[in-house]
Amino acid sequence: MGPVDLAGRRHAGLQRRVAGGRVVRHLPLFFDVTGRKVVVVGKGPAADRRADLARSAGAEVSRVAADAAIAEFRGAAAAFISTGTLEGDTAAQRVAKAAGVPVNVADRPALCDFILPAIVDRDGVVVAISTGGASPTLASVLRGRIEAALPERIGALARLARTFRAQANALIPDPARRRGFWRRLVDGPAARLVLAGDEAGARRVALGELDAVRRRMSPVGIAHIVGAGPGDPDLLTIRAVQLLQEADAILHDELVPAAILGRARRDAELVPVGKRAGWKERGIPGWAQADMEAELVRRVRAGQTVVRLKAGDPFIFGRGGEEVEALRAAGLPVSIVPGVTAALGCAASVGIPLTHRRLASAVTFVSGHGADGREATWPALAARLGEKGGHTLAIYMGATEAASVRDRLLDAGTAPTTPVAIVENGTRPDERVSVGRLADLARLAATHTRGDAGPSLIIVGEVAGLAAAAGQPLLAEVS
Ligand code: SAH
Repeated sequence: MGPVDLAGRRHAGLQRRVAGGRVVRHLPLFFDVTGRKVVVVGKGPAADRRADLARSAGAEVSRVAADAAIAEFRGAAAAFISTGTLEGDTAAQRVAKAAGVPVNVADRPALCDFILPAIVDRDGVVVAISTGGASPTLASVLRGRIEAALPERIGALARLARTFRAQANALIPDPARRRGFWRRLVDGPAARLVLAGDEAGARRVALGELDAVRRRMSPVGIAHIVGAGPGDPDLLTIRAVQLLQEADAILHDELVPAAILGRARRDAELVPVGKRAGWKERGIPGWAQADMEAELVRRVRAGQTVVRLKAGDPFIFGRGGEEVEALRAAGLPVSIVPGVTAALGCAASVGIPLTHRRLASAVTFVSGHGADGREATWPALAARLGEKGGHTLAIYMGATEAASVRDRLLDAGTAPTTPVAIVENGTRPDERVSVGRLADLARLAATHTRGDAGPSLIIVGEVAGLAAAAGQPLLAEVS
């Protein structure tokens, strides 16, 4: 048994290890060399790299030849040696040591007082990795993994913390509350906003939290308006997955499948706030937009981290804009995470390039609601379909309006032979695709509007004929 002190068993393990011998091969330190002399002996890339590193840390770098005299080393904080030969390195190392300067010799650990770690420098947040000289390759593999794990804007987060340091330490005397504040600052709503690029928003939130802690109130939470993509969980963004793992509550659309909700933190509260086309007519109650927004505001005010999870992208036919407005009007923090919108997901899944060098020079995302005559856009869309260079229409919420869509386009002069594709449940295991001609659109859509049909996207334009999942493409090979 290792020694057990008053602090209890948590420390026993560490004490045992220390008692058992050396824990680390080198003492890991970050050394302030601002304005101090650092000597670099020798030429070549290794010497240059060391000189650059020392300079970037604010040192006065003095480059000297391999036969430099002892006077050149006096008063230096460190010496880096890389002469290219063992004799040169050994001689220079002796002179530097005689001057009382700690030495690093490139690739000769036996001659080193200190070694250089592999480093990850993400905008001022630095991770140093050492294997005690055992394997530089292992260190560099680890560096790669850490690079990948660190958020891109972690440096901005460190700067935010720095600007609050003096203030928070002065205003929150109680250590436990202070720790709580710091923890929340670097891993809560303010951190999320910085990492998403909203530094001003983050500062506002942090100030609010500082104030709340001071007045012993609980701080407000944050809302993330997150795009869940078209349904395949692998098409979630990395940020969406991180937020699903952080959320206290997830307010999700009806269209978001279970496979995606399964990525949520185990004890996150899942709240379906959906409504679907046709529900109202069939007497099924769904959430009114205003009630859902009120629920969002209520939860964020109560301090929750809320993910508002929406199918596809929140800002493409998703009413995400209104939710952002409601939160901003209430003075609450909000971040927006884009998602793969249905048009992109469906197109990729069935192999339809939405633009194509020969077949379509532009694409329009349009809602099928309104095709029954209320919207004036259809003649304009038909005109674009007929333009030279070609055009693609990606029609959301259009399957139930298929007959109107067909009529409006045909009336406006679109060729009845124009290829169309309907993708139901795009990117999901139960994806179904129908490909045909505009004249047949209503008939094709009928199989995608039965009672238990999933969401469907209609693609109109020459590119629709390329749908791979339809078996035989309508068009011959295109190059
Ligand atoms: N914000 C969503 C769109 C919401 S509107 C987005 O960016 O994708 C709902 C419409 O999206 C549906 O009527 C359907 O046209 C389309 N849709 C959403 N998911 C789909 C999927 N997996 N396959 C086909 N269409 C889908």
